[in-house]
Amino acid sequence: MRRVTFSRNYTLSLSRTCRCFCKYCAFATHGAHLHAPAEVERLLDEAVRRNAKELLVLTGERPEVNPRVAERLREHGHEDFTSYVVWACERALERGLLPHTNVGVLPASDLARLRQVTASQGLMLESVNPDLVAHQGSPTKHPERRLETIRAAGELAIPFTSGILVGIGETAGERVEALEVLAAVHAEYGHLQEIILQSFVPHPRYHGAEPAEIADAAQRGEQQGERAPMPVWADPVTLEDMRLLVRECRRLLPDVGIQIPPNLSDWWLPLVQEGATDLGGLSANGDHISPEHPFPSPHRMRKLLAAHSLALTERLCVYPRYMSPRWMEQGVLDVIKARYWSFIPRRGSGRGEGRAIRGELVPGALERARQGLALTEGELSALFAETRPEAIEDMRQAADELRAELAGETVTFVVNRNINVSNVCVVGCAFCGFGQGRRSPEAYEHDREEFARRVRGAVEFGASEICIQSGIHPDWTLEDYEGWLALAREIAPGVHLHAYSAMEVDHMCDTSGLPPVEVFGRLREAGLDSTPGTAAEVLDDGVRERISPNKLPVGRWVEIIEASHAAGLRSTVTVMFGHIEEPWELAEHMRVVRDVQERTGGFTEFVPLSFVPFHTLLGRTHGIEEISREENLKHTAAFRLALGHTVPNLQASWVKMGLDAATEALRWGVNDLGGTLMEESISRSAGSTHGVMLTADQLVAAAHAAGRPAAERTTLYGIRRRYEVPLAA
Ligand code: SF4
Repeated sequence: MRRVTFSRNYTLSLSRTCRCFCKYCAFATHGAHLHAPAEVERLLDEAVRRNAKELLVLTGERPEVNPRVAERLREHGHEDFTSYVVWACERALERGLLPHTNVGVLPASDLARLRQVTASQGLMLESVNPDLVAHQGSPTKHPERRLETIRAAGELAIPFTSGILVGIGETAGERVEALEVLAAVHAEYGHLQEIILQSFVPHPRYHGAEPAEIADAAQRGEQQGERAPMPVWADPVTLEDMRLLVRECRRLLPDVGIQIPPNLSDWWLPLVQEGATDLGGLSANGDHISPEHPFPSPHRMRKLLAAHSLALTERLCVYPRYMSPRWMEQGVLDVIKARYWSFIPRRGSGRGEGRAIRGELVPGALERARQGLALTEGELSALFAETRPEAIEDMRQAADELRAELAGETVTFVVNRNINVSNVCVVGCAFCGFGQGRRSPEAYEHDREEFARRVRGAVEFGASEICIQSGIHPDWTLEDYEGWLALAREIAPGVHLHAYSAMEVDHMCDTSGLPPVEVFGRLREAGLDSTPGTAAEVLDDGVRERISPNKLPVGRWVEIIEASHAAGLRSTVTVMFGHIEEPWELAEHMRVVRDVQERTGGFTEFVPLSFVPFHTLLGRTHGIEEISREENLKHTAAFRLALGHTVPNLQASWVKMGLDAATEALRWGVNDLGGTLMEESISRSAGSTHGVMLTADQLVAAAHAAGRPAAERTTLYGIRRRYEVPLAA
């Protein structure tokens, strides 16, 4: 799945007075316009109310050339307009809004002043043609003047957005030339985070009207899409023209985002499919440049994109790779760290801040882990946060040796079927793409017939296990859960029933008033054979507070799992990693798992589940990206080492990481490839694209590709059938 980003911004047109006379502009005025400080504060408060994260400060150029604007600035205590912009940005930062300024051509000294209070800045190059009719009367639209500003921003290490206007009289060759010029500047400074490809849209002047009101009217359909006639100096632009520019942009600036403003072009979807990566700021208060073309809602766009296997994800105005002291003032970075820390790219596991990671502990930790000894929190944190390639290779080897010692060479798998009876859920975990409110159009609930059909399908498929899990349905009682088991047992008496997460069992306890051990007694009676160790996520209450505050706390999870073991039921145990957790929080998870296993011995296997962000709240609005394959494998090895001799089986989830990476994981401590699943909906709902089922043959082939024999196993690791490595392999 590919991510398409947008920024939740709010536009502040601090002044529309402009010294330029661009013919395409409906925004600027040559009268005096300046929001007074009290009005600015009111607008900033509104931006906060509307949940904006970015304040887009959009203004005319050098408005103080107008004497009345200059006078008002003096009255407000500012010697020039830049000083006033700085003031507005400071007020925004105080409110947790990240300023992005786009105030026209500026000298380096002004860019530097703005750098103190902005997360990023921008200036469109527009075109390399210095003689466009559309630019007559606008001396700072000369490409050289604009490039001076763009270069100065590079010298000052300012994360910068630029772009071109398409269809304002330039030739097709000049468009590509403009991208080449930007690529050359970027090659020198590396500061261009994004290129906007904006096709010219003629529109009526609207100065004097409120853009938000024009946008509202357009939303209501009163003037939606209405376009003014094409001026003589402009050229119509075709989708093919824009497609070509997206391709050129990708070629010339491969590490730079490509923005297509979605309100100005009916073509945003084909252009995203061509390779555009960003939809810009979907401003909470409309587009101030083209207010009659309102932004589509993120909700609508998300749905349209999802249908094409694309995930709409929020970003901040500054791109992740610039979130560092080299590119930003500390004061601005502090706001990101305090408010939007989950958007800071993860190096190793988590932010790696707050506690010292002691890499020097790794060699000793590997030694001790090989002997199966429990590692300390500091040692485990160091393993999870390790970045040195040679140390990671040492981890891999140690994990592989431990696997060989505890589980041998055979790669196991189970032929099973998942049945998620309903996705209705009242818990609302931020990492979940599966659970739906009861009234959601995507909510479903199988009836008994459908459930029975699926159970029969599992039997026909040759499944030895059926895994039943659902959302936390507000209406279901213990009897309902017993009913699903009893029905499955009746239709498939020989099939192992592996069902109900600790969260579901907690819900059964709540609704029945019974303690976990009695609930398990009832479920056993109805046919339950073992339980999945899901709902563990990260067994650290701090993490749980952040990603699933309504979920059962660690103590309750442990109590329920121990009750299942006490009832004679074995369980698996999982971890969901690669989101906002810190290395020491994973260390705590492993301590809890090890402790439970040492007390009960009830865990059959450990299942690392890497977080799939695409259609989840955490992914959409907290900037969490999918963990890399390398990090995923490193974590896999660390989990094996953390378990020591306590849990012999380590599974790779092909649903989360893909079969190819899962096959590679067989060299990183893994001895089990999980199940065929037949219908996988939980990861798929979160945006996983690794399929919903595999056949036994595919899993056998994966093991053989790794040079290892395979075996179909039962849920409890009895061997059903062996598949030796073919001689030719
Ligand atoms: S993870 Fe489970 S409990 Fe949480 S919202 Fe999703 S379905 Fe509900």
